[in-house]
Amino acid sequence: GDVIEVSELTKRYGNKTAVDRLSFTVRPGRVTGFLGPNGAGKSTTLRMILGLDSPTAGSATVGGVPFRQHPRGLRHVGALLDAGHVHGGLSASAHLSALARSNAIPRCRVDEVLQEVGLAEAASRRIGGFSLGMKQRLGIAAALLGDPPVLMFDEPINGMDPEGVLWVRRLFRRLAAEGRTVFLSSHLMSEMENTADQLVVIGRGRLIAAESVRDFAARG
Ligand code: ADP
Ligand code: ADP
Repeated sequence: GDVIEVSELTKRYGNKTAVDRLSFTVRPGRVTGFLGPNGAGKSTTLRMILGLDSPTAGSATVGGVPFRQHPRGLRHVGALLDAGHVHGGLSASAHLSALARSNAIPRCRVDEVLQEVGLAEAASRRIGGFSLGMKQRLGIAAALLGDPPVLMFDEPINGMDPEGVLWVRRLFRRLAAEGRTVFLSSHLMSEMENTADQLVVIGRGRLIAAESVRDFAARG
């Protein structure tokens, strides 16, 4: 299965608890929003799901196994994290080609995803000169590269122009309609109302709600 399962997940930095016994599941075929204010623990949670950070306690699995142990790697889970921090020296196309090579993804996918995210014209330009919106598009291209059934995006809307925001909404809706698991974080409820079906809401590292956007919005 392609379900993300987070169970009693906890992360402490010194005596600060960034993520506190967090449990939720994310199912395929819909867009699930991960909502909470800045500092709530969203990025830390995504990093633990992706195996980039180890939990202090609890577990996170994708399709029943910790992501690090998944043999399909980027062909199983694609993720956009911290788009602003991609390295500047390479061209968009070289960056994606390196990712394709290290994940046994056919080289032809690079041009396909560049086209899909609207960066075909910028393919040979250095990433260092990209705007944040373009870096977000490049990160989304990286996430799509392996055509994975599970996709995770950390604050993908930040720095995007209005046209980009509309494009990204349509993209996420389409990916979910194709039956994929789409999980995206944001600190903006308005963004979630326009994009997500389901919500996981956190505050200070703790679960506040896990329900449909409609039910959460109706709480008033
Ligand atoms: P969000 O993504 O919701 O903005 P984060 O997961 O980035 O939240 O951060 C959650 C909390 O954990 C914040 O208080 C942040 O300062 C703290 N934190 C995150 N990473 C570290 C780290 N490497 N060392 C110490 N504290 C951290
Ligand atoms: P490093 O720790 O040197 O960044 P990684 O292997 O973690 O090396 O990542 C190498 C590149 O692959 C980075 O640009 C990173 O953003 C990207 N990357 C890693 N995991 C994913 C993923 N699941 N989806 C998309 N890009 C990823």
